[in-house]
Amino acid sequence: MKNKNILVAIIINVFITISEVAVGLFIGSLALISDAVHNFSDVGALGLSWWGEKEILTSRPLAIDKLEC
Ligand SMILES: [Zn+2]
Repeated sequence: MKNKNILVAIIINVFITISEVAVGLFIGSLALISDAVHNFSDVGALGLSWWGEKEILTSRPLAIDKLEC
């Protein structure tokens, strides 16, 4: 199922983020830390994708009504 693939991607990205922060701080590399921030934003985007697909799979069309205030 696609939804499971997104979860795997989220887990991999969280692992990359934590690794890059740890190594970046250890060797003092701003490049690694900034890429960790980038990967953290990827986790957010993947999380939104996961949520959106979950809503589709449970047959609630995109739940746009929830997002509108
Ligand atoms: Zn990215």
